[in-house]
Amino acid sequence: MPHHPETDLLDRVSVQDGRAIHDPATGDLIGHTAECTAEDLDRAVAAARAAQPAWAARGYEGRRERLMRAAELVEENSEALARLLSREQGKPLNGPNARFEVGACVAWLRATASLELAPEVVVDEPDNHSELHYRPAGVVGAIGPWNWPMMITVWQVAPALTVGDTVVVKPSEYTPLSVQALVAVLAEALPEDVLHVIPGGRDIGAGMAEHPGIDKIMFTGSTATGKAIARSSADNLTRLTLELGGNDAGIVLPGTDIAAHAEDLFWGAFLNTGQTCAALKRLYVHDSQYDEVVDALARLATATPMGNGLDEENLLGPLQNQQQFDIVARLVEDARASGARIVTGGEPATDLGELFYPVTIVADVTDGTAIVDEEQFGPALPVIRYSDLDDAIAAANGLDAALGASVWSDDPEAAQQTALRLEAGSIWINKHGGIHPMVPFGGIKGSGYGLEFGVEGLKSVAVPVVLTR
Ligand code: NAD
Repeated sequence: MPHHPETDLLDRVSVQDGRAIHDPATGDLIGHTAECTAEDLDRAVAAARAAQPAWAARGYEGRRERLMRAAELVEENSEALARLLSREQGKPLNGPNARFEVGACVAWLRATASLELAPEVVVDEPDNHSELHYRPAGVVGAIGPWNWPMMITVWQVAPALTVGDTVVVKPSEYTPLSVQALVAVLAEALPEDVLHVIPGGRDIGAGMAEHPGIDKIMFTGSTATGKAIARSSADNLTRLTLELGGNDAGIVLPGTDIAAHAEDLFWGAFLNTGQTCAALKRLYVHDSQYDEVVDALARLATATPMGNGLDEENLLGPLQNQQQFDIVARLVEDARASGARIVTGGEPATDLGELFYPVTIVADVTDGTAIVDEEQFGPALPVIRYSDLDDAIAAANGLDAALGASVWSDDPEAAQQTALRLEAGSIWINKHGGIHPMVPFGGIKGSGYGLEFGVEGLKSVAVPVVLTR
């Protein structure tokens, strides 16, 4: 396929009589999405089941060749995909946003398709030679959120296709066009029926979770929905990977060079305008450097341009939807009412558009305040003062959410010791949210279970069988 301008991609996925999708930055109509029914879901699952044996029979080499071609097609269409993503999701083209997201799709596809699951000899004794083999799980159902819709689709789809599964994707109802466009590009490199997309609402997601024809659900979204999926998949014992909500803590140790880390702290919290699962969502700072950190973050907050994502200079965008906007506005209001100091932002940026909320640094706030204890998932960061590190660690570990966490220090030994005491699936030192296609990623406690990326990620979409002789 040659380069598609964005309008061509939209023409392919937008339908006349579908549900209207609007740009969150401007309110402008982008297009109309199809909405699938339960019958469409059944048809997609049946077609994916029928296509799976032949896809598996190609072997890693045969599938890799197609997946590398799919990566090439995404790369060739990256600007059109990024522009559509920016318009539908709201995220700017530049910064750690739309172009970065499409680039990550290409990188994850290539890295994942280069892997394979070889049999492992687990015991080799005279009377027992045992091997662990991995087979495709079968049909994978991929249910995704609206914050990184293309990248998370690739996270779910690439390992499944690599090991020989076929896939049915259910995009978020907020970002269906971006995901359908991405799937349309990917599908050009794949045999028919290997990859399906069925846009639809929560009912279609729930239908997937209880579908007997789906062998594995890859879910990324909120903790409440993850629990609903675990309940409705129980009768079929469907295998699950649940990447759920986070409320990541960061701890700045005393004596840290704040100027050297300020930008990384800022983007750890505000990439994708804070709408990121593993973003820094509460920051614990030692008393001795508290004002310095708050001032540094406030300076960056006011200096970083926010606005329409298609304007090249912007690095921060709107909230994607009204519901998320309301959550952020409510949490900031509640913090103000309980005596916190709003250092920057704190009121909707109505001059930019209805769904814009400025970067809001909330200081002099304590644990127990809703903006600390609940996931804000937007451009507001509570900064909490501590004087005793044990207290900060206890507070960081005190919530059910446990996706990521970070420690900030120029003393590697102290950083390592503190990191090992934190309860989270990923713990970063002097960075937050950094991911890599070969490094496993997943939550613990209320943030779910199962790992994505790398060889561990392949294992999660395969079934292990043991061979003994
Ligand atoms: P959400 O749970 O509301 O929706 C996610 C998807 O689930 C959507 O496609 C939705 O239609 C579907 N769904 C809704 N109800 C369902 C049901 N009963 N059964 C099956 N599917 C159902 O989440 P969201 O608002 O789109 O995303 C934001 C949340 O996702 C945040 O909490 C964020 O932290 C989390 N998230 C986590 C990760 C991660 O990797 N852990 C990544 C991105 C987002």
